[in-house]
Amino acid sequence: MTDRLYYNDSYLKHFEAEVEEAADDGRRLYLNRTAFYPTSGGQPHDLGEINGIAVVEVVDEEERVAHLLASPLTSSKVQATINWNRRLDFMRQHSGQHLLSAVFEAELRARTASVHFGNESSTVDLEIPALTAGDVQMVERQANMIVMENRLVHVGYEDAESAEGLRKASVRQGQLRIISIDRLDKSACGGTHVRHTGEIGPILLRRLDKIRGNVRVEFLCGSRAIEQAGKDYEALNSIAKQFSCSLSDTGASVATVVERVKNQDKLIRTLSAKIAETEGRDLHAATPVQENGLKHLTRIVAVAVSEEDRSVAQNFAACGKAIYQIYSTNPPSAMVACSVDSGHHAGNLLKNAFAIVGGKGGGSATFAQGSLPSTEAISQLRAELEKHGL
Ligand SMILES: [Zn+2]
Repeated sequence: MTDRLYYNDSYLKHFEAEVEEAADDGRRLYLNRTAFYPTSGGQPHDLGEINGIAVVEVVDEEERVAHLLASPLTSSKVQATINWNRRLDFMRQHSGQHLLSAVFEAELRARTASVHFGNESSTVDLEIPALTAGDVQMVERQANMIVMENRLVHVGYEDAESAEGLRKASVRQGQLRIISIDRLDKSACGGTHVRHTGEIGPILLRRLDKIRGNVRVEFLCGSRAIEQAGKDYEALNSIAKQFSCSLSDTGASVATVVERVKNQDKLIRTLSAKIAETEGRDLHAATPVQENGLKHLTRIVAVAVSEEDRSVAQNFAACGKAIYQIYSTNPPSAMVACSVDSGHHAGNLLKNAFAIVGGKGGGSATFAQGSLPSTEAISQLRAELEKHGL
């Protein structure tokens, strides 16, 4: 069994140990004692070095802890160092989570269903259907007050049978490792924690997500919170600069511009429709009547058929006794607009022609469109439509 040194001293950075087993050609090491925290309880494993060789992963195998090394090690005695910056950072996030979970439960009766500690941010999933902005602000303020009070975080041991006042009942039997935050929380936990709440540093609550009836709260503690607040300020400040307004006015400024853009879009759609109507009518007037009594217009373009093109074609056909065809070579496609009195059904014409030359699409009696497999198929399609008088 590996003696887990971090249980009683989570501030231990260097230690000596004896190698009990070196599996996988010396890349998987089992020691008699270790300060390396293995991945468990949502907290990621430590990194560090054993006799100068990088530890890339630490695995909890219940009785033992396995240290996975970047290269083989053959010594029977080792000196090891854990990556303290990484460990301390996770100790802050983990202790901050205990504190937050306790405050959420005390203030809002929101129990913690699960936790996750990530390299960027961490989350708690709360058993509560929703949280208001006011709830979040209140919990954040309360949590940071407890941080600033610098309360003691105590590690102790109690028997599972007789342990009382735990925030969450433990499923473990026998001796429990109990982490207590003075006058706030008592939890069974095997993780690493700071000694006083002040070491957690500022706690920042951010994104909320609804997940399976719970609310997932993203949070950051310590340096992470400060760095993130800095990034948030930069992002907001760059918006404020563009609007030449103060940070607190950015929301209102953005809302004003969004509203203006919406109105302008509406106006553009109205004007485009009017332009297409005029253009379609002018084209119709300028196009001579063919022997079959219809006005034919055919265009071939090298770009995708635009919304404006479609609108002009439909307006052209709407003037009566008219057919407008547009073919695009890139991507290969066809569009046909027929007037009601043309004696043709645009949808049926294209559908039948597509069945012969390949292609997909269809439409109504007055308007149809579709895609073609190749540019060669365009001339085949045109030849096919010509047979029907187009
Ligand atoms: Zn813990």
